[in-house]
Amino acid sequence: MTEVKAYAAKTSDSEMVPFKLDRRDVTANDVKIDIEFCGVCHSDLHQVRNDWKNSVYPVVPGHEIIGRITEIGANVTKFKVGQLVGVGCMVDSCQKCSACKDDMEQFCENGATFTYNGADKHLGGHTFGGYSEQVVVDKEFVLSVPENLDPRAAAPLLCAGITTYSPLKHWNVKKGDKVGVIGLGGLGHMGIKFAHAMGAHVVMITTSPSKSGDAKKLGADEVLISKEEEQMKKHAGSFDFLLNTIPVGHDMNPYVNLLKRDATMVLVGAIEPLDPLHGGSLVMGRKRIAGSLIGGIKETQEMLDFCGEHNVVSDIEMIDMQNINEAFDRLVKSDVKYRFVIDMKSLKNS
Ligand code: NAP
Ligand code: ZN
Ligand code: ZN
Repeated sequence: MTEVKAYAAKTSDSEMVPFKLDRRDVTANDVKIDIEFCGVCHSDLHQVRNDWKNSVYPVVPGHEIIGRITEIGANVTKFKVGQLVGVGCMVDSCQKCSACKDDMEQFCENGATFTYNGADKHLGGHTFGGYSEQVVVDKEFVLSVPENLDPRAAAPLLCAGITTYSPLKHWNVKKGDKVGVIGLGGLGHMGIKFAHAMGAHVVMITTSPSKSGDAKKLGADEVLISKEEEQMKKHAGSFDFLLNTIPVGHDMNPYVNLLKRDATMVLVGAIEPLDPLHGGSLVMGRKRIAGSLIGGIKETQEMLDFCGEHNVVSDIEMIDMQNINEAFDRLVKSDVKYRFVIDMKSLKNS
């Protein structure tokens, strides 16, 4: 085992502090990665604060991991030492159930092992994420990162990227569709970029008028301020698809009202109780609300390759590991442009 530096939350109301953890020795199927950059997802904060009531402490968050391989096991043929790779939200799954066979490990019937806060099959206890110097991961959960992408800005693709790419693909968003992306944060800004790249007419639906200019630069054709009733009325019944990234429970009625007949709103953000929904909003117009969780490994690789081809990366603010508490405070205030990424040199040199 190797002891590595990390940052952890020891309880739901404590700050992130320096922490040491053990990484297992590389087994035949493993890849060891020296972590260079790690994105800061709002889920990291949810889990640190125990918002989903399933956190195990200490929590070492981080599931937007980019780094270089330093060691591989005997059975690893797809990767080589020195290669730029990524690790997202999962580090293992059963590989045998129907979900795994269908390349949807995130829905593994025996429970996928999430990158942090999951049951660690090798060392016991729970898994620790990317706010650390190194990670050891089963080869089936390592992604190749196109070398033409800026590795710092590619880190958020591992969660924010796949979480928005997957539903846009699954619901067949295509050229000319009117697509609304709700919430301009880490997920939302990737949603705009992907929907735009797929040829949709993209409307950014935001509570923050100050983000309008940025939304257009990111690829939105229009901006809709959700607090403005007149604007919401103007767009009622006009959307082919809505991608809802709001990170907390909320009243969905005003958004469902924006959908066309037979259209779908997909929730990815609010993994918690929602405000009551009037059944009439769905019944009148045969509308649908659905959910989506990240994406499988095969689709994540497809997304990364798409990004390599179309030169899609995130808009990021680089931070040092030591500034994570301030970054979390800003995330709560919807104040990030549009993803924080930690430079792991700051941890290594500390
Ligand atoms: P983020 O960067 O904090 O962005 C969320 C955005 O939502 C904010 O910037 C804000 O945008 C808007 N917002 C915040 N509070 C709101 C409220 N009360 N009402 C309306 N809009 C509000 O968060 P993120 O990293 O994109 O993550 C978003 C959510 O997705 C989190 O809950 C995260 O845990 C979840 N998530 C889910 C998956 C999945 O697989 N399903 C994967 C990753 C993350 P405006 O200022 O534009 O309004
Ligand atoms: Zn995430
Ligand atoms: Zn499985």
